[in-house]
Amino acid sequence: MNIIWARSIVSLVLLGLACAAIGALFGVKFALAVAVCILLVQLFFSTFHKQRLWHLLDAPVYGEVPSAPGVWGEIYYRLHKLAKRWHAQVRQVEQQHSRFIQAIQASPNGVAMLDDHDQIEWCNAISEQHFGLDAKRDLRQHITHLVRQPDFVRYLNSNRYEEMLIMRGMGSNRQNVISVQVFPYGDNRKLVLTQDITELERTDAMRRDFVANVSHELKTPLTVLSGFLETMRELPLSESERARYLELMEQQAARMRHIVTDLLVLAQLEGEARVQSNQMVDMRAVLCHVREDAESLSGGHHHITADFDDSLSVTGSETEVLSALGNLATNAVRYTPEGGTVHLSWRAENNCAVFSVTDSGLGIPAVDIPRLTERFYRVDRSRSRDTGGTGLGLAIVKHVLQRHDAVLEVKSEEGRGSTFTVRFPAARTARRQPAPA
Ligand code: ADP
Repeated sequence: MNIIWARSIVSLVLLGLACAAIGALFGVKFALAVAVCILLVQLFFSTFHKQRLWHLLDAPVYGEVPSAPGVWGEIYYRLHKLAKRWHAQVRQVEQQHSRFIQAIQASPNGVAMLDDHDQIEWCNAISEQHFGLDAKRDLRQHITHLVRQPDFVRYLNSNRYEEMLIMRGMGSNRQNVISVQVFPYGDNRKLVLTQDITELERTDAMRRDFVANVSHELKTPLTVLSGFLETMRELPLSESERARYLELMEQQAARMRHIVTDLLVLAQLEGEARVQSNQMVDMRAVLCHVREDAESLSGGHHHITADFDDSLSVTGSETEVLSALGNLATNAVRYTPEGGTVHLSWRAENNCAVFSVTDSGLGIPAVDIPRLTERFYRVDRSRSRDTGGTGLGLAIVKHVLQRHDAVLEVKSEEGRGSTFTVRFPAARTARRQPAPA
């Protein structure tokens, strides 16, 4: 039997017995009056607690248990336990919800949830950026009222979401490329995932350009070579003509070899982010080599001077440093007409080792300077080819310097000459014992 029933029956029995005893002692009327009084007190007591319970259910207080004797105390205690358990569960669900929201907010992708009328139920900060939304202001707005691009509206209404949609001109700067994919879920609801693929598109375009450039660069000498081969096979040639043609063919083959070698060097440099070797570079040997290369390329047609601080050195890869500085020096000779000057310098500036090449050559237009280190970028194509250039020299220089934490500065004036300066960081700069005179 239920405890409440048991207690009620016991109370009634006790009340009956007490009334019977009072009736026997003081008469039936008096006993009835006492019984009515007791019942009235109990009615008042239970009404008071019902009222209290009512208020308690309206606004539960989790911390304290209201005190009451008997069954009411038990009811309050049990209710309190129930409310506490329920409160703990609500808090747990709230915490899980907030962690879930934090995780989606931390996602690098945009997430927007649409209800069954394509109205925004929730979106994270990245989605706000991608679509130019305001999560608070635009809540419950139809998404196509805010993202009005026809492509997007068509995609959303198509109900075919196997493929993603690429949207250009997005983001706050209207220059980003965003991929959008919709995933239906629940009762006609939609999850709209977005990803910024601007960088991906850019590298993809660069890769395509690169393949096109390599093919073009190799195609030209190949075409010339096959032309000569055809001529040699079909036309009767004198011995001197044959020798001349063979020499020209050799030049084209050498050009192709240079391009392939430079490409391999670039691929190798790009494969590793930082230089492996941290050995002290023998700068005296390197600078000597750089100067000799420049002089031999010039063949005495330029006035080449040098000012080297022999005790200054850097740490890194000797072959790479030689290839970068050598490239700058030979470029200065190649792009300076005969009779011009080329000055090489190796010095310390603010604890940094600095190499610079100044020439009195053709100079470079200001618009071309930022693009010089791009692969195959040339200011003057024919001049570069005539002097045996591959268009990859400065790209190699850039990578070598990046790997040595060094920077390249270019100053140039068209028709007056250029200065290419390489600045190694203080952390890579070192001093050696000066060489005996
Ligand atoms: P290239 O093999 O064509 O010389 P680089 O990458 O070494 O390729 O140089 C890129 C372009 O930068 C060259 O084609 C040339 O137009 C320009 N350039 C480089 N060095 C100089 C310089 N010292 N003076 C003028 N132009 C230069």
